[in-house]
Amino acid sequence: MRYGGNTPCVEVRCGAHTLIFDAGTGIRSLGNALVQTANTADFDIFLSHGHIDHMIGLPFFAPLFVKDQVVRVWAGSLQPAGGVREAVRKLMSFPFFPLQVDALHAEIEFHDFHAGEAINPRPGVILQTATLNHPGGAIG
Ligand SMILES: [Zn+2]
Repeated sequence: MRYGGNTPCVEVRCGAHTLIFDAGTGIRSLGNALVQTANTADFDIFLSHGHIDHMIGLPFFAPLFVKDQVVRVWAGSLQPAGGVREAVRKLMSFPFFPLQVDALHAEIEFHDFHAGEAINPRPGVILQTATLNHPGGAIG
């Protein structure tokens, strides 16, 4: 009720950088707001794990459909599924979705990492990752 009934998606502003944690249904309204108000053209999305409630909003993230936007998608728990690129490809494939990743206009980068790694998605931004206690595994 408090957050509008969306599945997980949290925006964190870190200086001029926009970091997005999980791509639940909330990322749709976030993406719509970002294309209208953000003064940046690149975004980092971190997927804690591949459960559908944490990924289902990704194909509806408006910056993916804007030329010259850069969207980096990061995950640390999807290597057993072939990596984050493969997980997103599966999400955006027949019969689940009408568009494939190749049809998106943004420049999309996919990055896999391992739990415990410190990752450096943007200059001056360092995230320390760790394994989360979640059925099937998750990394945050
Ligand atoms: Zn889950």
